[in-house]
Amino acid sequence: MGKECPVCQDTPSLVSYDANFGLVHKISSGVSTGLEARHKGPYFKTQRKFLDFVEDYAMDPKSIDCSNFQAGNVLRSKVKNSKLDITGVFGSICKHDIPLLFLNMTKGESLAYSAFLTEQFLKDRSEKLTVTYDIACSLASYLKKRNPDLLAKCNLAVPVFHSFAHTMSCQLNFGQRYVEFTGLCDGEGIERFWSFLRPFKKISKEMTVNNRNDLLTEALMYYSDKSIVKIGQKLKSKLEEAKQLNVKCSKELNTLLTCKNLDYFDIGT
Ligand SMILES: [Zn+2]
Ligand SMILES: [Zn+2]
Repeated sequence: MGKECPVCQDTPSLVSYDANFGLVHKISSGVSTGLEARHKGPYFKTQRKFLDFVEDYAMDPKSIDCSNFQAGNVLRSKVKNSKLDITGVFGSICKHDIPLLFLNMTKGESLAYSAFLTEQFLKDRSEKLTVTYDIACSLASYLKKRNPDLLAKCNLAVPVFHSFAHTMSCQLNFGQRYVEFTGLCDGEGIERFWSFLRPFKKISKEMTVNNRNDLLTEALMYYSDKSIVKIGQKLKSKLEEAKQLNVKCSKELNTLLTCKNLDYFDIGT
């Protein structure tokens, strides 16, 4: 992992995944000028391991549940470009917006990327991991077939804003506001992070692979530092927000119960 989140340390309880198809690399830009990449890690350190892993997790479009969802289409198309050797970046971030592990993509948004990262995060730990991903429903059915043990160690959720593009039954099973363990997180930290990283695509696609690796790693380190500095203030305002919401919801629930002549016992609370 990259710079350690001071709150999560090495066992994040919630991670968000997403793919960015803008951060490509052109074959014609080459691999290196003869020099090794300066940064061997920390963000892209599992790339080699992933290449072995991916062979067993070939893309399976039939595992997609919400066929009307855009990421599902991405899964099936948008992956073939003979001029590119890297078709994007697949990334993960903790709930405090600290970048974690990243992979260069060489095919579409194959579920192998998310399955691999999940396996990495769950290595040597017994606590469950909560994963938010815009196609978490597809990942769930994929792992159910391929790796049920891994699935049993995760809580999967579709981020708040993405969930509206899914079917109603999917929203009820995976929508972040309906599942446990995500609190008031919106699961969209990774999208905010992409908006920071996206402008690098114009130069990184023209660099050698090694220079691109160094540039992206340093950008990730900068973002990490910036996020760490803000953690204290962010947690304080989130606590305040949670307290206010609690008061507001309790008030509305009381009004509703009074109106229906019920009490907390009747609704099993
Ligand atoms: Zn964290
Ligand atoms: Zn779905």
